[in-house]
Amino acid sequence: MEQKHITIIGAGIVGISIALELQNQGYKARVIDRSGVANEASAGSAGAFAFADIVPLATPGIMMKAPKWLLDPLGPLSVPPAYALKITPWMLRFWRASWRDRYHAALTAQSSLNGFSLTALERQINNVDGEPLMQRDGQLQLYEGEQEFRASLKLWDVRREFGIAFEHLKSPTEIAEIQPGLDSRFTHAAFTPDWMNTIDPRSWAEHLAKVFVTRGGEIDHVEVLALEQSGDGINLMTPNGPLHTPKVIVAAGAWSHHLARTLGDHIPLETERGYNTTLPAGAFDLRTQLTFGGHGFVASRINGGVRIGGAVELGGLNLPPNFKRAEILLEKAAQFLPDLKIDHGKQWMGFRPSMPDSLPVIGTSKRASNVIYAFGHGHLGLTQSAGTAELVAELISGKTTAVSVAPFAPTRF
Ligand SMILES: Cc1cc2nc3c(=O)[nH]c(=O)nc-3n(C[C@H](O)[C@H](O)[C@H](O)COP(=O)(O)OP(=O)(O)OC[C@H]3O[C@@H](n4cnc5c(N)ncnc54)[C@H](O)[C@@H]3O)c2cc1C
Repeated sequence: MEQKHITIIGAGIVGISIALELQNQGYKARVIDRSGVANEASAGSAGAFAFADIVPLATPGIMMKAPKWLLDPLGPLSVPPAYALKITPWMLRFWRASWRDRYHAALTAQSSLNGFSLTALERQINNVDGEPLMQRDGQLQLYEGEQEFRASLKLWDVRREFGIAFEHLKSPTEIAEIQPGLDSRFTHAAFTPDWMNTIDPRSWAEHLAKVFVTRGGEIDHVEVLALEQSGDGINLMTPNGPLHTPKVIVAAGAWSHHLARTLGDHIPLETERGYNTTLPAGAFDLRTQLTFGGHGFVASRINGGVRIGGAVELGGLNLPPNFKRAEILLEKAAQFLPDLKIDHGKQWMGFRPSMPDSLPVIGTSKRASNVIYAFGHGHLGLTQSAGTAELVAELISGKTTAVSVAPFAPTRF
């Protein structure tokens, strides 16, 4: 097969965004994916550009709260017994990431990447005429009663410190001005106006892929089994034989660490499996994204319908899905939005690629200087996709990156 200048493994939102950005900068880019464009995590996300979500999951004190959540096997956080031993090393790193020093460093890094990604997204939207696929309706974070709201204020102070715009709403009447039809248990809320959603994350990735191909890019369907250094390049081992490429970017989502390991890089990537149900158009008059933080799920508008989803299941890549989780979220949503029509929903489970400190991996392989890693974005892969793409292009061209990539180093663990 013809040699191309840069090969990207993975046609999820991260890989496609990188390919398009490299193409914009004059590189000849080829994408390789075993299953096609946005067929994994990037297909079924909530569609949010969640720039206000700067707080890592590993917050100080989280290990005190986690056992309580884990007691409910269908609660917002779960570890299937069959995976409990395997996830232990990752959990220990997660615990270490929650110590104050590391938490503050991760918060600062996440905030800088989210801020940069917001500006990069606007450039990307411009570049691909993507505005029709965007919804600029903000997000409502909902609280059941004064006590839950008060408990959240510390984190809102942190967000204020990092320049996140928000408004607090302190009565159901104020909330109803933004989103009518909520159950009266929601007495308080925070509205983040700069939050955006795409009308459908799969359509957004497909749109980017279409632009990439129209401008001469190539997307091939083949599985990469391993990476091998070969002369001044890299051989991608596939069932059809090796493909030689001078430079490779690994953006293979929750499977990326398997490829990194074939080069000798050990990166503690795990998956946080998430679930949702997408209801058809007319299910509810949703005017903004709703986040039920205390219950670990959101409601977002997708193609005029409603997607109810979230949950974190630390269950690895191979266990079968447990769609009871999606059902539980839908049942709760029906209580919170009494007019929600819950028929004809389509269930889905996806693999968030997650690092213990909630930060992605963006940087050069320790073993091979012509391999760049770009994965592990956890809950924020869509949010940080355009920013990651620009940073990877800067790394490839040897420029100083717009934000420091040191906190995202593949070698940080
Ligand atoms: C329920 C849920 C809701 C979410 N909501 C949001 C949200 O609102 N906002 C947000 O920012 N993020 C959200 N996320 C997270 C987001 O979906 C992910 O972070 C993001 O999609 C990851 O993108 P990716 O391109 O890295 O991986 P993926 O989309 O998983 O793509 C990886 C690609 O690599 C390919 N691949 C893997 N291994 C190989 C191989 N060996 N050879 C060839 N190809 C390979 C796969 O086929 C796949 O196409 C959500 C996730 C879930 C589960």
